Amino acid sequence: EAAREILERVEERGDNRLGVEAMGLLDAYGIPMPDGEIVDAPEDARAVAEGIDGDVVMKIVSPDILHKSDIGGVEVGVADDEVEDAYETLITRARNYQPDANLLGVQVQEMADLDAGTETIVGMNRDPQFGPLMMFGLGGIFVEVLEDTTFRVAPVSETEAREMTEEIKTAPLLRGARGRDAADIDGIVETIQRLSQLVADFPAIMEFDINPLVATPDGVAAVDIRLTVD
Ligand code: ADP
Ligand code: MG
Repeated sequence: EAAREILERVEERGDNRLGVEAMGLLDAYGIPMPDGEIVDAPEDARAVAEGIDGDVVMKIVSPDILHKSDIGGVEVGVADDEVEDAYETLITRARNYQPDANLLGVQVQEMADLDAGTETIVGMNRDPQFGPLMMFGLGGIFVEVLEDTTFRVAPVSETEAREMTEEIKTAPLLRGARGRDAADIDGIVETIQRLSQLVADFPAIMEFDINPLVATPDGVAAVDIRLTVD
């Protein structure tokens, strides 16, 4: 129900592309994510940051800016007393990039533990021939340089989801290479299945990318999302 409302709101907005304002969709499907909120005033950003332990990440929220770091739209490791300045900086950068961009606000988000975690990507594309194709791979440089990704037609069973985590070339990194602890592979498998269910429930979702889904030994967290609806 919550998911349906979110998608209806987008339709009313007359926009078919969503960024982190779609996090609620993931929440509705029980996918873990860092604490966070979208605000539209610097004071509110500060208040949210003060309610979150440690530094925060701040991101511009706009359907016109879906590759946020490309325009300096992501500030990582922001302390509480820097939040209001960072808010203004993000808005200024967005305005400079595209003066008429539809700015929905700024997301203030808890930091994910990237040191203990591995950045993975889970995505979906509707293929005209095969239908919805779920994608899994490692994030960051791995996806760009190695194109180390794997695909299954949705709905994806638990066995298939597990195969996806095992068959990428960089799978040993998830299992714990070089003295690192293994990532929560069960959490990844569960997330792939839940997203596959989301895709089955909402044929209007044409494609999405969760990049990164951070996988630590303790669990997974969806840190960023973009999606396109029909
Ligand atoms: P975009 O992909 O639109 O540039 P992201 O939200 O993915 O924006 O942020 C860019 C990068 O910043 C991520 O790939 C990740 O490395 C880092 N990052 C973003 N959010 C967090 C977070 N909550 N905790 C830790 N690192 C983050
Ligand atoms: Mg991203």
